[in-house]
Amino acid sequence: MAALVTVLVLAASTIGGPDEDAFLGLEPRIEGLQEAATDYDRYLSPLGDVRAVMLFARFPDSTGDETPEELFELLVPGAVEYFERTSYGRLSLRVTPVPRWIEMDAESGSGDYDCSRFETHRRYIGEVVRKCDPDVDFSPYDVVYVVAAPSPGLPNSPTLQALPGDGIEADGVELLHGVTFGNDIRNDHWGWRVLVHEMGHVFGLPDLYGYAPASVHEYVGGWDPMGLLTNGSHFLAWHKAKLGWIDEDQVMVLEDDESAEVLVTPIGTSGGTKLVVLPIADDQAYALEVRTRDTEESDEPGVLLYRVSTSVASGRGPIQVIPARGDDDDPELRRLYARHYNALYTEGTVLDDADHRVHVSIGEATPDGYLIAVTRPAE
Ligand SMILES: [Zn+2]
Repeated sequence: MAALVTVLVLAASTIGGPDEDAFLGLEPRIEGLQEAATDYDRYLSPLGDVRAVMLFARFPDSTGDETPEELFELLVPGAVEYFERTSYGRLSLRVTPVPRWIEMDAESGSGDYDCSRFETHRRYIGEVVRKCDPDVDFSPYDVVYVVAAPSPGLPNSPTLQALPGDGIEADGVELLHGVTFGNDIRNDHWGWRVLVHEMGHVFGLPDLYGYAPASVHEYVGGWDPMGLLTNGSHFLAWHKAKLGWIDEDQVMVLEDDESAEVLVTPIGTSGGTKLVVLPIADDQAYALEVRTRDTEESDEPGVLLYRVSTSVASGRGPIQVIPARGDDDDPELRRLYARHYNALYTEGTVLDDADHRVHVSIGEATPDGYLIAVTRPAE
């Protein structure tokens, strides 16, 4: 990660709350990847055409016999379709491959390309860009992808996020956004889903899986690709609001002493109210949306409840699902979700938080979605 020295500049689009910096009723508290409004002066906008160039790197200690064409197929078509579908047509990812191997100067395990450190991560991308520069015009591209052959020094696929002045110069432009794809793209069912997760970071979203070994999938399981990405799920509606894939009038923010019954439509359909937000502090809210499990068989929809904090950092649980019931022992769902695969509520009381005077119940399941009844009595 780049050093966190940026000045927080908030997007003009804010919803609810008296504070003009508030997003969905919550105020910004921390910098970098977080759950308040995204600073699109720093992160890439996820609307319209996003243009990427995909380069391919091989190190002296690389193995494998994949071709660049095979790796492009593994990573790109699925992600392009995913973004088109889940953004309701608002994001078009266009990836141009340069399908030949770039031979790197040093071994992947040498430390010269340590992707956990900004300087060496930038050096890695910079060397590939420099070696491609004679026959690639980098000026049209928003983001650079480097895909490595299987290499012992590159276990995962981090994002490079440079601040202006710290990026990689080429063809009169400064490249600020990059992703280097490592060995994890070859995990079972990961492939293009890794690209989706890393683009989430390029677009300003935090990690929802836990960095502490004891909490890896404790927070959201597989309900958002910033958590477990195996099932290729939609982003949470909170993230879709951050990304601008759902509009202000598709979000219902109910502050203290506001009560309402709201028809919420499933995340997989476009249009209608997608998210109900109940702020309980300047930096905390409950959120509700209607989901189905993203599995092969079509599951019944239900209501997903979670808690959002703008004070909690990436990888520490800024969003936490509050499940309807605990996990039983379903090996397939455990593979796809790890945790919280029984999270969806389908009837009755969803939430009863006396301390914050919030009561939520399901009024009725309709063909269009769920009527969600929220009661927030005055003190
Ligand atoms: Zn991540």
